[in-house]
Amino acid sequence: MKNFSKIAILLSLTVIFTTQAVAAKKVRWSLAMTWPKNLKPLSTTPQKLSKLLEQMSGGNFIIKVDDAGKHKAPLGIFNYVKSGQYEMGHSASYYWKGIDTKTALITTTPFGMTMAEQQAWLFYGDGMKYMEKIYAPHGILSFPGGSTGVQMGGWFAKEIKNLDDLQGLKMRIPGIAGEVFAKLGVNVTNIAPGELYTSLDRGTIDALEWVGPAMDIKMGFHKIAPYYYTGWHEPASDMQFMINKKAYEKLPKEYQTMLLTAIKAVSAEMFYEHYHMSSDAWEQMKQQYPNIKVKTFPKEVLQAMKKATDEVMAQYGKDDPLFKEIYENQQSYMKKVREWTKISEYDYIKTSEMVH
Ligand code: CA
Repeated sequence: MKNFSKIAILLSLTVIFTTQAVAAKKVRWSLAMTWPKNLKPLSTTPQKLSKLLEQMSGGNFIIKVDDAGKHKAPLGIFNYVKSGQYEMGHSASYYWKGIDTKTALITTTPFGMTMAEQQAWLFYGDGMKYMEKIYAPHGILSFPGGSTGVQMGGWFAKEIKNLDDLQGLKMRIPGIAGEVFAKLGVNVTNIAPGELYTSLDRGTIDALEWVGPAMDIKMGFHKIAPYYYTGWHEPASDMQFMINKKAYEKLPKEYQTMLLTAIKAVSAEMFYEHYHMSSDAWEQMKQQYPNIKVKTFPKEVLQAMKKATDEVMAQYGKDDPLFKEIYENQQSYMKKVREWTKISEYDYIKTSEMVH
């Protein structure tokens, strides 16, 4: 009898432990994003991630999304995730250029790869390997977080006919592209997004770059600047999801898989959504302001931009051997992949335009 009850206790304990192992773990995380609440499709991407994970986990894996209005530090996301104050962040890697110049390479580079080329490099070339290397010292895991594709070269009050037209031109253009323009004599300024329209309208600045039709239309630049230049500087701006590595390692394996799968899904979707919004917005802009002139910078200007880009990149490479290695890796990947892009997408568009 004694033995029998011992066995019964053991059996019931086994049942309890098995049930506990099967019961899904409740996980509550927070994510800080750089964007204000309603900056579609940037702000909606982490919100979609949160919703998807909640559904996939049957309500057990919850990620609370805080917008810039809530946490008050749009450019503090890196530190939030590094310190573990937030388990996750959604932002863009090049905002951390001041912490490590290599982070800028992951977002986009002037005259660099297109969206499709860059994603191929990230996932099937050496991209993710380098991403890991760049972020590992900070205890952060970083993943592509949605792309805007090619960004436009910006809105200009006057046409740029030659290099002289750039001398003393006042322009808002951040990042590496800003450094390139500064080398060409442009007076590069940094103005808060909320003041851009007024600055352009009053002539405080002569030009600015933002994103492309999808996000420019709300800013209203097309109402006051007639020249819309085609892109050269941000051919595939990639957003970014960051995860605190320690927090990730504590997750049950199945949640890790869910999280990485959901990140890939919502990031791809952001590109589709942004593409759709761009075509809608461009159609509207053209209808309302038929005098918008789409221009490509003259060849002499583009050649000078390319030369300045090479100089800026060479300088960063000199200061940091890993920067040099990653940039060279990207350049050689692009050389190969571009040959394919040229005879596929590029030639197809030329071909199909011949009969439209
Ligand atoms: Ca931009």
